[in-house]
Amino acid sequence: MKLDFSNTAIAYQHASHADLRRASALFGLLSSPALVSVGAALSLWSLKWRLPVKGLIRATVFRQFCGGETVAETRPAIQRLWQGKVGSILDYSVEGQSTDAAFDQTVDISLQTIALAAQEPGLSLAVFKMTGIAPHDLLHKLSAGSELTPEDQEALEKVRARIRRMAHFASHNGRCLMIDAEETWIQGAIDGFAREAMQEFNRDKPVVMTTIQCYRVGRVAQVKEDLAHAQANGYHYGVKLVRGAYMEKERDRAAAEGYPSPIQPDKVATDQEYDACLRLMLEALKGPEDPGRVALVVGSHNEGSNQLGAELLVKQGWNPLEAPVWFAQLYGMSDFISFSLSQNGFRVAKYLPFGPIRNVMPYLLRRAQENTSVAGQTGRELAMLRKEIKRRSATKA
Ligand SMILES: Cc1cc2nc3c(=O)[nH]c(=O)nc-3n(C[C@H](O)[C@H](O)[C@H](O)COP(=O)(O)OP(=O)(O)OC[C@H]3O[C@@H](n4cnc5c(N)ncnc54)[C@H](O)[C@@H]3O)c2cc1C
Repeated sequence: MKLDFSNTAIAYQHASHADLRRASALFGLLSSPALVSVGAALSLWSLKWRLPVKGLIRATVFRQFCGGETVAETRPAIQRLWQGKVGSILDYSVEGQSTDAAFDQTVDISLQTIALAAQEPGLSLAVFKMTGIAPHDLLHKLSAGSELTPEDQEALEKVRARIRRMAHFASHNGRCLMIDAEETWIQGAIDGFAREAMQEFNRDKPVVMTTIQCYRVGRVAQVKEDLAHAQANGYHYGVKLVRGAYMEKERDRAAAEGYPSPIQPDKVATDQEYDACLRLMLEALKGPEDPGRVALVVGSHNEGSNQLGAELLVKQGWNPLEAPVWFAQLYGMSDFISFSLSQNGFRVAKYLPFGPIRNVMPYLLRRAQENTSVAGQTGRELAMLRKEIKRRSATKA
């Protein structure tokens, strides 16, 4: 099956004319790396000195890429997306917390997002970031295999309890809970926690899902090892496949500290690793008569990878709405992929970030930088927005 990602009437069915104009102006600005780096530095500086820039941030990048500051504020966006049968994944995008009170608050808010699914359809997936519930230093020590102090041990048990609370609640409510992937120097610990949780909660159905970043070398081997471990230990393996969001940071750190970069040599190698992992997971899923014990989220804005995932799923005999496979994109980006997939009967969900403006800034800056550093992405986004603006003007005329 060949999907058509070029139908802008489908892609922007949920957007008003004003939404399109605002998004088009914003992506126009984002396409300039110089403007983005000056804008990013100025925003952080102004927030630090409490200058009145929140309104400007709210009306621009925040509005484009986030659903609101609280769970309740996200509901209009959830409902708008669901009108096009696109679900939401509420993402409390507060990172780099450091106190137990803040970690526990992240857990409480995650539980609220899972509970909201009782009132809003289309919320079948939930997500959290390990740096939102665990001390960075602990994740670093665990990843490096350093010895833990008694205080670290105590912190470790608290982190385990937080994960269990969320996974238990998700399981009870029939939702899947994804764990995001972060920087390689803390990812070893995150992978360990994810595996532990999958072993405990994925006995009868996939509940917890880990994340694999295919911009890292050796990910096909990692997926194979994970699948073998899950099979040998009798649990479902759930994974979200992404390319990876910290490329520049990873390369800079490796160069500064003098170790080989963990990142693929070029974009082509990342794309090949991604598609190879995708094939591997769909092979492991097998057909609907005798399904494998796996679940998959195709987390990507790449047309080729989405097309490949959709094609293989159908080829294996699945009715896409019955397969444990979701296609996911970020809110405010690549609606032409999300809405085309949902229109063709696939399960689709958008990451819908939310949180206080000051605290979601690291997330917003990544989105802004991604939209300048990813060749082609902004251009494609802009071209589609402009095409739809033109189409609507012509229809009106
Ligand atoms: C639903 C969803 C969930 C996500 N969750 C996570 C997460 O948990 N952790 C995380 O790190 N990211 C996450 N991301 C972000 C993701 O990793 C990518 O940054 C983003 O989606 C862009 O990749 P792409 O597949 O969409 O598209 P593309 O535009 O095809 O790929 C761009 C990506 O390719 C890679 N790349 C670009 N140039 C090069 C190069 N020269 N050499 C090697 N690789 C290169 C980079 O990873 C870059 O982001 C998520 C994205 C989505 C849509």
